[in-house]
Amino acid sequence: MIFPREEADIGAVLALANKHGVPVTTRGRGTTLMGSAAPVHGGWVIDMLGLNQIAIKEEAGMAHVGAGAKVADIQRAAEAKGWFYPPDPSSREYCTIGGNIACNAGGMHGGKYGVTRDFVVALRGFLPTGEYVEWGTATKKFSAGFNMRDLWIGSEGMLGVVTGAVLKLIPQPAARWTLLTSFRDETRALQAALGLFRSRVQPAICEFLDRESVLCAERATKQTVFAGQAGRPVILLELAGSKPEVREQSKAVLAWAAANATAHRVARNRDEAEQLWAVRRKCSGAMFELGDAKLNEDIVIPMRSYVKFARFLVRLKRESGLHVPTFGHLADGNLHVNIMYHRADKAESRAAEKAVQLLMETVVSLGGAISGEHGIGLAKTPFLRLQHSPAQVRAMQAVKRALDPRGILNPGKMFEVFHVWKHEKLIVHLPWDHK
Ligand SMILES: Cc1cc2nc3c(=O)[nH]c(=O)nc-3n(C[C@H](O)[C@H](O)[C@H](O)COP(=O)(O)OP(=O)(O)OC[C@H]3O[C@@H](n4cnc5c(N)ncnc54)[C@H](O)[C@@H]3O)c2cc1C
Repeated sequence: MIFPREEADIGAVLALANKHGVPVTTRGRGTTLMGSAAPVHGGWVIDMLGLNQIAIKEEAGMAHVGAGAKVADIQRAAEAKGWFYPPDPSSREYCTIGGNIACNAGGMHGGKYGVTRDFVVALRGFLPTGEYVEWGTATKKFSAGFNMRDLWIGSEGMLGVVTGAVLKLIPQPAARWTLLTSFRDETRALQAALGLFRSRVQPAICEFLDRESVLCAERATKQTVFAGQAGRPVILLELAGSKPEVREQSKAVLAWAAANATAHRVARNRDEAEQLWAVRRKCSGAMFELGDAKLNEDIVIPMRSYVKFARFLVRLKRESGLHVPTFGHLADGNLHVNIMYHRADKAESRAAEKAVQLLMETVVSLGGAISGEHGIGLAKTPFLRLQHSPAQVRAMQAVKRALDPRGILNPGKMFEVFHVWKHEKLIVHLPWDHK
């Protein structure tokens, strides 16, 4: 493990590794859910946590940050100056901005504001060869040459090491308004959400929890999410913006709730809103009562296919016999489908393996994406070729070879390794196993 004290140390490490063909893996906080930061080929691991400086440039509305800065610290530093950095992964109290850039992380605010990619103005760091590069400048416009900045974003630490970034900030919304709604079933909830989006209302957050997720949260918090609506799917909405804008939109949302939901409740103050959000935050951890293993799939579904997908989930649960609590961000189609099983139960493990395969095939056939924010890493390598044609995979491999000719940076990820599950165990097949 290498703990660089200065950015230049990283260039020296990479130059040496490149010369001797040593694998190097960059590590932020290690919260990736896809195994992306696991050094599967051994070698050196660069820990980025020491490069954690944060400077808010008030006149430009930008944050200059080191790659190891914690995302929640960046948000707090921005807020202290009246600015807002919207990308908000649930792991923001732990994960680094470098990890967020490498995975193009998202969160609940994605539908209205966008994801990490939409807030990166410029990057700096080192190529796998150890050469220093800057992609973009701290200016609002930049159109000089290939957009290598966006190539690095989402490249999962395989094309370079990000040492610092310039992030765009937006003004803090002056008002927020939170509403909880419940629905008779999942299909009705998703149909209702489509109606809301058609009416041009743009919630800052629009979170869906299916019946199973609600039950998990209720058991974990020992309180009903919605008195009289126990175990019903819910949609939690937050409007944010100027006071007149929020007032206007809240009228439309209340009319929508009265027409579509079985019940709705407005949070009267920030404390009440916080109680409602606590339910959403608790549901993911609470799912472990349904099994000691969780396959958390962060798929994306086009809005036109929401209802078809809701029906597919009913079928998936019935045919697999597994609990599949599902929640997610309706304003951008990014749903977290959690396939729960018990590791020691061979039949359940096999059913989970089959369920993931079927899920991924269905997502792609509906025109969706196999990942909206977690990336491919190790865990999703078997499905990359469902999403991408051979020509697309070859193009990505050609980029990797051009920037990392010796293949030292984060080897064994994305398309380089094929792995399969054998029931509860992950078996990794290196490319040469197939020759
Ligand atoms: C409880 C929990 C909730 C989560 N919620 C969300 C969520 O809501 N939204 C979401 O998007 N993700 C979520 N995640 C996933 C994870 O937090 C994100 O993928 C995050 O971006 C990873 O950041 P990290 O600092 O931990 O990076 P790591 O896990 O250390 O690394 C992730 C990848 O980034 C690369 N990398 C790290 N730093 C750099 C760098 N400086 N330069 C180049 N490459 C680098 C690594 O090599 C690796 O490939 C969640 C994870 C957990 C455990």
